[in-house]
Amino acid sequence: MDMTPNLNGRNAIVTGSTSGIGLGIARALAGAGANIMLNGLGDTKKIEALRAGLEKEFRVKAQYSDADMSKGEEITEMIHKTEANFGAIDILVNNAGIQFVSAIEQFPPSKWEAIIAINLSSSFYSINAALPGMKERGWGRIINIASIHGLVASPFKSAYVAAKHGVVGLTKVVALETAEQNITCNAICPGYVRTPLVENQIRDQAKAHNMTEDEVVDKVMMQWQPNRRFVETGEIGALALFLCSEASRSITGASLPIDGAWTAR
Ligand code: NAD
Repeated sequence: MDMTPNLNGRNAIVTGSTSGIGLGIARALAGAGANIMLNGLGDTKKIEALRAGLEKEFRVKAQYSDADMSKGEEITEMIHKTEANFGAIDILVNNAGIQFVSAIEQFPPSKWEAIIAINLSSSFYSINAALPGMKERGWGRIINIASIHGLVASPFKSAYVAAKHGVVGLTKVVALETAEQNITCNAICPGYVRTPLVENQIRDQAKAHNMTEDEVVDKVMMQWQPNRRFVETGEIGALALFLCSEASRSITGASLPIDGAWTAR
């Protein structure tokens, strides 16, 4: 068996890949030869530059879908469009996500609904639509980007923690339902990664605690992450790439922390 990740001829879709972790994963998969369907919000010109940049740098096909991950019909349509354009989806990475931090009594119901829809239900819709093709071809890789908050909780993140625990549960069910079909389904559980999602939290915490942003990182955030540094998006891309290789074919239904020992306590 060739254990080197080689994704030449494979087609991948990465939700929420216009920024942060999703973009890191899209770059890692494209670097190994996979065609990429990008997805996410953002400035049209910047997204087009990202798409064209991937094609040029890695000599793969890259397309973009503007599907809204809070809307089931748009997700189903995106999966079918990707299959039609590329011929198949071999790798599905469910990564799109948002955050909102508040005590539960003040948590706005609209934020709860949005977080559950984007961070959890979107994975149901994409897997529901992409699995039949994977089963038909007898190969597939599904990677759900959960979080250490899929394994442990923090206060003030009720919707996020509930959604991410849901993602971990969904991952196990899909792994059991596909175990005999050469399809794996795993969750990656990162600790803090310095992306726009976390930059917003740093800014809000600095205001709330009357601290500088550096103090928030050092005194508030890194107290949880024992190696005291942010995980880099490239590290998560490398783990996702490993999960797409033949070497990982027996790893399924797993939730893999990449968290500097956060969840070791
Ligand atoms: P990010 O804000 O940099 O990226 C989020 C991506 O999701 C963007 O591309 C954004 O456009 C997209 N997105 C948001 N709402 C969308 C919608 N309605 N429709 C389509 N796309 C949408 O954040 P990130 O930190 O890279 O987060 C990516 C994933 O990693 C999330 O699921 C997040 O929960 C998870 N995660 C992040 C961290 C961290 O510390 N940054 C840690 C653990 C898990």
